[in-house]
Amino acid sequence: MTLCNCRDCGVLFVPDRVEVTVCRDCERHYDRMFDVVRELVRNDSRMTIQQLADKTNIPSQQLWEWVRNGRIHFQ
Ligand SMILES: [Zn+2]
Repeated sequence: MTLCNCRDCGVLFVPDRVEVTVCRDCERHYDRMFDVVRELVRNDSRMTIQQLADKTNIPSQQLWEWVRNGRIHFQ
């Protein structure tokens, strides 16, 4: 069992997958925010990561993770 520090709130947690970098609470929060982000990108696909980060208060690191995972598509 490996303990990790949550990337965002710093709490110690046990990741259930290797690629997990945030605790469950932060993950849940980001899952909710993901719908908001997807909607924003759908309405304006020229939106940049920085603009999205400013609008939603989601760290750009998290937004890049979604892009890398193929969950958000930019033009
Ligand atoms: Zn956290």
